[in-house]
Amino acid sequence: MQVPTPGTERRTLTGIGVSAGTAVGPVAVMAPPVGVDEQEPACTDPEADGQRVRAALAEVAESLRARAAALAEGPQRDVLAACAALATDKALLKSVDGQLRGGAGVTRAVHDAVEVYAAKLRALGGTMAERVTDLYDIRDRAVARLRGLPEPGVPALERPSILVAADLVPADTVALDPASVLGIVTEAGGVTSHTAILAAQLGIPAVVQAKGILAVPPGSFVAIDATSGDVIIAPTNADTAELAVRAAPAEYGPGHAHGHEVKLLANIGTAADAAAASALDVEGCGLLRTEFLFLDRESAPTVEEQAEAYAGVLRAFGRRRVVARTLDAGADKPLRFASLGPEANPALGRRGLRLSMAREELLDAQLLALAKARAAAPGCDLRVMAPMVATQEEAEWFVGRARSFGLDRVGVMVETPAAALTAERILGVADFASIGTNDLSQYTMAADRTQGDLAPLLSVWQPAVLAMIRAAVEGGRAAGKPVGVCGEAGGDPLAALVLVGLGVASLSMAPVKLGPVRVALRGHDLETCREMARRALAAPTATQARDAVRDLL
Ligand code: PEP
Ligand code: MG
Repeated sequence: MQVPTPGTERRTLTGIGVSAGTAVGPVAVMAPPVGVDEQEPACTDPEADGQRVRAALAEVAESLRARAAALAEGPQRDVLAACAALATDKALLKSVDGQLRGGAGVTRAVHDAVEVYAAKLRALGGTMAERVTDLYDIRDRAVARLRGLPEPGVPALERPSILVAADLVPADTVALDPASVLGIVTEAGGVTSHTAILAAQLGIPAVVQAKGILAVPPGSFVAIDATSGDVIIAPTNADTAELAVRAAPAEYGPGHAHGHEVKLLANIGTAADAAAASALDVEGCGLLRTEFLFLDRESAPTVEEQAEAYAGVLRAFGRRRVVARTLDAGADKPLRFASLGPEANPALGRRGLRLSMAREELLDAQLLALAKARAAAPGCDLRVMAPMVATQEEAEWFVGRARSFGLDRVGVMVETPAAALTAERILGVADFASIGTNDLSQYTMAADRTQGDLAPLLSVWQPAVLAMIRAAVEGGRAAGKPVGVCGEAGGDPLAALVLVGLGVASLSMAPVKLGPVRVALRGHDLETCREMARRALAAPTATQARDAVRDLL
């Protein structure tokens, strides 16, 4: 039962729900980095200021060590321990002293000393260059302490809470513990951003684009509905009772009586997801985002480590299909061990398959690990596919590479307009395609998927996006190869009906979205779905497309 927050009036913010479920709990705010104090006085006593900075850095190191100690043994713990050591590095402290002697104030001295140190690490390259992110994290924490402000990042939660932030990055989201993070509400955040996707996958109710949430004081109670996007501040008992009803699992019934042959599959990212999803009534996994297994890794996972992780997933699904997507690193999913250095436009840079083509050894290790995993899971149905394919040559290169490791069912993702428009040729060389509607919308509409205020442009109902999907499906039909969907659109019950009407062979989605999609499919025959697709394609705007389909429900 919630405790009313003194002085807080009941009110509702409306955001966009990006997962499913409801949650009620106290707000814990994730503070943003604060930056240098532009008003601070210049240094007049380098000795005393040096001591202040040392004390702040020592506190940062101590808090990182405490967080590491609370974790089980593993790469995440190692990363935090290494970060703690970096915070009190002698060379860094010497550089701070130099800045102070030059007259810089304390926060400016830390900032500039870190820049100098970061440049040196970058010049060394390799794993040293990968430490730069840690260094910036230490800088932001130390500067916040020196300014007497809360440290940025996910706060240590003393009780289960609703995490509130301006926005979250995938690396923070993947490390959240669903037992202590009851829900997530962000002021910004994209609907198809990887943060939203990860929240859905972790089963954490999440709402993005809740304007005004950052003004809610920490500790206030809020109730959220991750389907409708409602965020109720200071909810009444009637509100929480109503949300509990909305959260009650619907009865979807056994089997998959959706009347026509459409495979319903799960999107997963971890071994725990595989265990949970394989227990559901699904026909397999349509997208294993392998990069999610390694978001927190400092160094590349070995072939053996990878093989073990993949074999666990394959065993969980038994004879059902598992489509493993090779590393889709870059843009908003940077992997420290797979970085090719800064780029001006990372979403248009060397990400996905382009990165694999530049770092062939990473792809080869992954393909070898997948082949080993398949051998270790007799009877499994493993398929592999490449992310971010744009040309037939790329598809051919990837298919050849995968086949050389004995992997025989090799597909590609259709995430670029280039791939959608040349799907017939690409499917002349690949065995199947899976449409990534998240990136396909982003690249068709030239709208950043991580930028929440562009949500209307990123909608799958946009005429141009629907036309791209139709082109991809028609290309598959002409080539005689199956085309599925594994982007978020497949998990929207209304869009799922249109996709089926367009002719997709499978829909893969976050497990929490399977039930409503199954119900929608079961309630509509193929002819109705085709009519919905016709009407959606004929509509001049996204709103009209959605309304036209809704009229046929
Ligand atoms: C997509 O782009 O739709 C997709 C499924 O891949 P990701 O969301 O991981 O980029
Ligand atoms: Mg994608």
